[in-house]
Amino acid sequence: MKKGIAASKGYAIGNVFLYEENEVIITDEKVTDTAAELAKLEKAVSLCREQLEKIKEKTRQNVGEHEAAVFEAHILILDDPEFVGSVEAEIKNNSTNAIKAVDTVSKNLIMIFESIDDAYLRERAADIKDVSKRMIANLAGQTVGLEIEKQNTIVVAHDLTPSDTAQLDKTKVRGFITNIGGRTSHSAIMARTLEIPAVVGLGDITTSVKNDDLIIVDGIEGFAIINPDEATVAEYKTKIEAFEAEKEELKKLLDVKVVTKDGKHIEVCGNIGKPKDADQVLENGGDGVGLFRTEFLYMDRDSAPTEEEQYEAYKYVLETMKDKKVVIRTLDIGGDKTLPYLPLPEEMNPFLGYRAIRLCLDQTDIFKVQLRALLRASVYGQLAVMFPMISGIEEFNNAKAVVEECKKELDAEGIAYSNNIEWGIMIEIPAAAVMADELAKYVDFFSIGTNDLIQYTLAADRMSEKVSYLYNPMHPAVLRLIKMTIDGAHKHGKWVGMCGEMAGDEAAIPTLLEYGLDEFSMSATSILNAKKSY
Ligand code: PEP
Ligand code: MG
Repeated sequence: MKKGIAASKGYAIGNVFLYEENEVIITDEKVTDTAAELAKLEKAVSLCREQLEKIKEKTRQNVGEHEAAVFEAHILILDDPEFVGSVEAEIKNNSTNAIKAVDTVSKNLIMIFESIDDAYLRERAADIKDVSKRMIANLAGQTVGLEIEKQNTIVVAHDLTPSDTAQLDKTKVRGFITNIGGRTSHSAIMARTLEIPAVVGLGDITTSVKNDDLIIVDGIEGFAIINPDEATVAEYKTKIEAFEAEKEELKKLLDVKVVTKDGKHIEVCGNIGKPKDADQVLENGGDGVGLFRTEFLYMDRDSAPTEEEQYEAYKYVLETMKDKKVVIRTLDIGGDKTLPYLPLPEEMNPFLGYRAIRLCLDQTDIFKVQLRALLRASVYGQLAVMFPMISGIEEFNNAKAVVEECKKELDAEGIAYSNNIEWGIMIEIPAAAVMADELAKYVDFFSIGTNDLIQYTLAADRMSEKVSYLYNPMHPAVLRLIKMTIDGAHKHGKWVGMCGEMAGDEAAIPTLLEYGLDEFSMSATSILNAKKSY
């Protein structure tokens, strides 16, 4: 048995799928048999084509046409004589080994594309990177990506990126476990949304198991049992049944409205990452959407979503939620969330660096596309917009100035938007919590992002299992900052929500209620369980 950090509730029994992205060592070694090397290359190319066709089809069915087109572009690269032809020539003419030949040719092409002053062509460089990575992995006999074929699979990885997690096929994956990570890393949050039991921070789990080993994931106690005996499997089968029965029982709370003893109505809302998740919020009895992490719209693609695509996404959520409030957060990229087409500087401390509102205020062309889409969609429901990682009033004012620019543009184009949008900020930097009574004069609402607030207050990386013992939501310093934020807002008649994971933490709810928190927002799948605690 291996102990880690419980990241997503539930139990799972299944077989290991080791997801390893080993660095392939590329050598300058020359080959003597170029014909054999060319044959290897041909085999790798056809394997790539087969894999990409499958992913394309799956993406078309599960996500949509637009997203599937990315993989069509990858297939076209395989057919491009500039690419494969040049790799063949490199092998034939210089006796280069196939891996090195793919690496050399793709690096040259990437350099050429990246130097062209055309956004579309620059993005093609990202496609070539992807395809060459796949080809090199196939040539080295390694697995690529999370292409899972078998039912009842438990994914075992060093770490999963948020976009890896988003790709997990729920019909096959029963659970996942990782070497590193904390409860509030985005892959853990994603696992809760998908309702996939998960344990993170298991240390060396990837070297303790091999493919197809039987494994139990205990996402409640936070451990994994490798090759359990029959009695343990039977015990866990019973636990799974009891867990499912409890979930059924909680459904009785679906229509229950939460009212405190002194008669105050408490909003219990859901956090979403994709438009479709809004359906899940309603199915779980949510009073609204308290956080739409819009950066997920920007992931798993090779260019940023257009204004039109974003407009459709926001409109869908607003229409789905009807008259219920929808809090949409502007792009929060950086930290543990990166985009293949948006180069970010290499930083020693990305969580303290160029992320979220800092990036948007610097790259207003990206920011404006989103703000215009939000304004246009605002006519379809009760929209509230909030800016992430606000450290002081200047950032809020600067963001609002960009909003005003967008409104002027829309006015000139004769495009409507609502005048009832609420504009708020996330309180996730201690400085903002301390200054809450000042900030509250200017904003319509606060939403406390405890995932970041805790890590910044206690200087304990939310991603690190090594310091997870310090990452304590109930630390008195954290509680004081939360209380200051709520008091600061109420002093000026503003409402305060919480959209960090602490909002769904049964142990914290009574204290937060006592402090007067107005809205709790959490993974949709935690809503019913939280309702039990009010
Ligand atoms: C938070 O920091 O609490 C939050 C909700 O934002 P994210 O987890 O996306 O950083
Ligand atoms: Mg945050």
